Amino acid sequence: MGGYRYLYGPVPSRRLGRSLGIDLVPHKVCTYDCIYCQIGKTTKKTMERKEYVPTQEVLKEIERFLSEETFPPNYLSLSGSGEPTLHSKIGTVIQSIKKLTSIPVAVLTNGSLLFMEEVRQDLRNADVVLPSLDAVTPEVFFKVNRPLCLLSIEKVIEGLIQFRKTYEGQIWLEILFCKGINDSEEEILRMREVVEQIEPDQIHLNTVVRPPSERWASPLNQEEMEKIRDLFGERATVISEFDRHPVLLDQEDSKEKILKILKRRPLSLTDLSRGMKIPKEELERTLQALIVERKIKKRCFESETYYEISEGP
Ligand code: SF4
Repeated sequence: MGGYRYLYGPVPSRRLGRSLGIDLVPHKVCTYDCIYCQIGKTTKKTMERKEYVPTQEVLKEIERFLSEETFPPNYLSLSGSGEPTLHSKIGTVIQSIKKLTSIPVAVLTNGSLLFMEEVRQDLRNADVVLPSLDAVTPEVFFKVNRPLCLLSIEKVIEGLIQFRKTYEGQIWLEILFCKGINDSEEEILRMREVVEQIEPDQIHLNTVVRPPSERWASPLNQEEMEKIRDLFGERATVISEFDRHPVLLDQEDSKEKILKILKRRPLSLTDLSRGMKIPKEELERTLQALIVERKIKKRCFESETYYEISEGP
């Protein structure tokens, strides 16, 4: 797969199988600036919905991909480098995809704009919507998601409840826990009450599994995650995989390709090797060259080595 500007992958995801990413906003336009975000700090925090990337260009690329691809992905996923519902034509994109293919459409969203009737309408034709909700009280919401100050957690929750009332597809709600931030017993018990009102089809429990935007954002351990899962009941599973904003896999030359991928998020040698389908040994040589050129650097997180873009000497 090559020469695409708005498509990436298909990338493997535990939740979505082989998923082709469709990027509807430039890096990193979002309503939040989550402390755990794996694609870096938000550069444009906004609630303004507009056509951030040209809809017709995106659709042309999807059409080309579908005509060239011999091994179709399990999902076409609207996610990418920020919050996809900020794109004012996301509804048109979904509807147009449905006319082109029977491959199901997934939307990975932070759910912050679902309080808007137009956004709920836009998502109505998606097959699966995967919203996130990491807090239910204002203090915790501001700590973990660092939203635009115009957004309140009450609004976000109300949006999710309203969406459930009219949306007929699957809702898979994701909650990501950061140690000491949103994992207090009180917050979790209140979350459980809110989740009951939202009535998602599945609840996906996650923690910090990738180098986060803020180095001090730390993961919960397996035992802690399992305890939380027991509280949420049988619809809940621990996923421990950050697939909300997957990696880009297209570029001609491998150095360029690596830089483009790492610009989105830090990755380990195994991730890069698997995603780019290049043997580890071969990839290591290119990574070493990029380190020497000071374009990337290594970073240790939870006893794993990751490669990331070097911001300075
Ligand atoms: S994790 Fe998603 S919602 Fe949070 S800041 Fe990053 S892009 Fe935005």
